[in-house]
Amino acid sequence: MKYLSTRNSSLQLSFFEILFQGLSKDGGLFLPHEWPHVDLGALKNKSYEEVAVQIIHPYVEADITEIDLKKIINESYNNFAHEKIAPVTSIEKNKYILELFYGPTFAFKDYALQFLGSLFSYALPNASKKLTVLGATSGDTGSAAIHAFRGKKDINVFILHPHNRVSEVQRRQMTSVLDENIFNIAVEGTFDDCQKIVKELFVDEELQQHTSLTAINSINWARLIAQVVYYFWSYLQINDEEINFIVPSGNFGNVFSANVAKKMGLPIQKLHITTNQNDILHSSINKGLMNKNIVTQTYSPSMDIQISSNFERQLFESANRNSEKIKDMFQEFSDNGSYTIEKDILDDLQSIYLTTAVNDEKTLSTIKLINDKFDYMADPHTATGLSVLLNNDKNETWVSLACAHPAKFGNAIEKAIGKPAVLPKELSKIFDKEEKMTILQNNKENLKSLILSTL
Ligand SMILES: *Cc1c(COP(=O)(O)O)cnc(C)c1O
Repeated sequence: MKYLSTRNSSLQLSFFEILFQGLSKDGGLFLPHEWPHVDLGALKNKSYEEVAVQIIHPYVEADITEIDLKKIINESYNNFAHEKIAPVTSIEKNKYILELFYGPTFAFKDYALQFLGSLFSYALPNASKKLTVLGATSGDTGSAAIHAFRGKKDINVFILHPHNRVSEVQRRQMTSVLDENIFNIAVEGTFDDCQKIVKELFVDEELQQHTSLTAINSINWARLIAQVVYYFWSYLQINDEEINFIVPSGNFGNVFSANVAKKMGLPIQKLHITTNQNDILHSSINKGLMNKNIVTQTYSPSMDIQISSNFERQLFESANRNSEKIKDMFQEFSDNGSYTIEKDILDDLQSIYLTTAVNDEKTLSTIKLINDKFDYMADPHTATGLSVLLNNDKNETWVSLACAHPAKFGNAIEKAIGKPAVLPKELSKIFDKEEKMTILQNNKENLKSLILSTL
């Protein structure tokens, strides 16, 4: 399988090339030249790991043998806390919840980042320089990345978070990891400041001479293929003819993986996207209006995003893979801060996706309702999806994704139901642990010297 960029469809890159690069130099995102087809019958009675091998192998076969891929995948999921890895539970007839919080950091990011961690260790001998993983986090990606890369040889990990602006659980999940290759940087600034420093360092030539900088956010294609697996896995558990999913969305990575599953042969009818008040995806797909707005802080912080990187992948698909058109589109969006999506592209988007924007009030009332009526505790991201699930047609099969463990968002839970969610044992332990982090001023030079001093 060779890879192209959404802004240059004539590229022919290998899987390892796009794995280390993350983002294409033309500013586009990587996609495979073709969509492999999966034989559903061949997946019956297989384990999660075996299903994962079948789904992922066609994307990597030129670089990784099936036997090696099996090892990588087994290593990725051996520390998950549920025997089914991603179990499906039902609240009413035809209404299911796919639980994705059994990884080491209790959010769905683990399903992709644990795989990415194992993959990088495997692929490292192919890298020309020592790897430096660099990322900014406002929510769950940072801790998932840290837990995936801790203790790995020849990979240093720098995760920036805004000082005093993440929850205590989120901070401790990162700073209580004491491995030598993990560097937690608390930046005296906001998440946007962290993101800006990261972007500046990615184009810093002096730094690039000494180390390969690598991105671990969901622009990295390897993350998306790992997420395709649990859509197939939930279908196998439910065993119905057709299936529909509700996906709480921010950066459009998770729901795009669902559409990839559909392209690979999973009989998905509709994908229903939920957002919070940061509703650019809702207005883009519903009305064709892409407008850059200021990010509002909500109870679902991991969805507090106004520029959804992976939406570019979907626009490329909906524009019949015309990379020139995508280049012009994003040029106009970047110049004007807005863009109106053309009718044929919009028609295609609407044939795949439904959308609903759910505000904070509705999110909290849904957490309470689900808890009262079904004795089920949902985190605020998950609750945006469940508010739609509750009202859906009982004759269709709907699966709503549970994206994180409710205990990660104790404040919202307490506000909704008057008591906090019970912390899982591993999470309650982090309150007694020693913390390690470096507080840095908001400028890139300090971080650059720190990175150089560790090589
Ligand atoms: C990351 C995240 C999301 C959003 O997923 P995207 O792939 O960015 O659309 C939703 N909920 C939780 C809990 C998350 O961590």
